Amino acid sequence: MVFISPPWDQFVMLIGELTLLAIIGLLAFGFFLAFIALYSMRRGKFYFPRLLSSGFTMLEGLMKAIVGLFGLDDEELVRFFIRVHNSMNAKGFESIPVSQRAVFFPQCLRSSKCPAHLTPEGLHCQHCGQCEMGKTLPLLRDMGYRTFIVPGSSFISRMVKKYRPAGIIGAGCIIEVRDGLEMCDRIGLCGMGVVTLRDGCVETLLDWHELFDVAGLGLDPALLPKDLDVSAQ
Ligand code: SF4
Repeated sequence: MVFISPPWDQFVMLIGELTLLAIIGLLAFGFFLAFIALYSMRRGKFYFPRLLSSGFTMLEGLMKAIVGLFGLDDEELVRFFIRVHNSMNAKGFESIPVSQRAVFFPQCLRSSKCPAHLTPEGLHCQHCGQCEMGKTLPLLRDMGYRTFIVPGSSFISRMVKKYRPAGIIGAGCIIEVRDGLEMCDRIGLCGMGVVTLRDGCVETLLDWHELFDVAGLGLDPALLPKDLDVSAQ
């Protein structure tokens, strides 16, 4: 027969009650954040962006489940948080000289017949005209940006270690951008994300006007391309 002393009994009860309280507290906080997120989306305005951003990092799974109850899918929620993140970083990004900024593009933006060579600095565009990067990379370089076409997952960390930019723009699919922004936060970089319009492994699409809107933040308008002669993708 196992003897359970009253103090031990009370201790187990206390742990149970504290656990229950923690679960209720987390759920309440999750619902509160989901409510602010949904309200912000509806009003087209960001309320409590810092709270939303850190809450999303901590409770992403729970928030996805809660907003799912209101008919919003995971992707929409992550897109919203990328916009919140960008709006929080915009002021900081504006203050970074363009010489300390870099732009990273995913290789999936290329044509499937892309003749770019792989180099230690990423894929080297041949400006063959089969995708918009042939036109836009030189425009960004003229503005003063370092530009990279990313060939693999560890590439961005290597280039960040090598060139030590203070601010970066990362284009990519929704998951790549979310992970990239989290990485920027961890290492103290000011990150801005631009999500591709279509996911996939080849010939994905980007809103170049959105990219150049972000790239132009805080820069002298004289540095911006006069006429961005690219299709919406
Ligand atoms: S323009 Fe550059 S990146 Fe695009 S397909 Fe041609 S070589 Fe590749």
